[in-house]
Amino acid sequence: MRIDVLGVGFDNMTVEQAVAEGVRLLNTPGAHYAVTPNPEIVEVCREDAEAREAVNGADLVLADGIGVIYGAKMLGTPLKGRVTGIGFAQELMARMAEDGKRLFLLGAKPGVAERAAENLQRQYPGLIVAGTHDGYFQEDGPVVEAIRASGADVVFVCLGAPKQEKWMRKNGEATGAHLLVGLGGCLDVFSGEVRRAPEVFQKLGLEWLHRLAKNPGRIGRMMKLPLFLVHVAGAKGKKK
Ligand code: UDP
Repeated sequence: MRIDVLGVGFDNMTVEQAVAEGVRLLNTPGAHYAVTPNPEIVEVCREDAEAREAVNGADLVLADGIGVIYGAKMLGTPLKGRVTGIGFAQELMARMAEDGKRLFLLGAKPGVAERAAENLQRQYPGLIVAGTHDGYFQEDGPVVEAIRASGADVVFVCLGAPKQEKWMRKNGEATGAHLLVGLGGCLDVFSGEVRRAPEVFQKLGLEWLHRLAKNPGRIGRMMKLPLFLVHVAGAKGKKK
């Protein structure tokens, strides 16, 4: 059963459980997809029904962001812990490398996915990056075809939220891949373009603060976090 936080149902899993489920899905016929909503995306889902359907329609809904963990706790239905998109992706690639699985990288500015591919193949010997495509395309058709032709088992879809969630819901089946994962800005990190927050920030759940310091333009988006907590408090009040 999923744990509801303001209309988004989260799978209650540790990182290990989530990766095991990801591996199971990528070996199961048919298309599946995973999403990693943070409070900002939960707020988007409150306003955008299509985004909400795309997120809740996923086969795996992982709690990315310390805010979701706080929210679930405040509502009296705590989650086991945070499963960041990037951490999930790294563990999944390690497992894919062992099994010689094929990965397609979709998203970010031109050139970024290619650089990410080079780094990832070095970091995970045995992992096959079957293809890449930037995230600034007009038509889905040729991109879907490129993924299908690559024979990818897994696609990392990094178009930002909620675009990537809607894209996976609409196109997942046609790509022929078994697992698509919505991963926001991960390709920028894998390519070396953007550095991940130092470990101490990660451990304290303060990655958002590091990202804000590096890119103050994100403040508008980040104001969704206090709003999220206000909405959680309101929902808690109603529950009583
Ligand atoms: N992006 C893209 N196509 C678009 C819009 C965004 O490929 O039409 C990429 C963008 O270049 C960046 C990622 O999507 O690499 C979104 O990054 P952001 O930091 O906003 O994602 P978050 O992890 O915060 O969801």
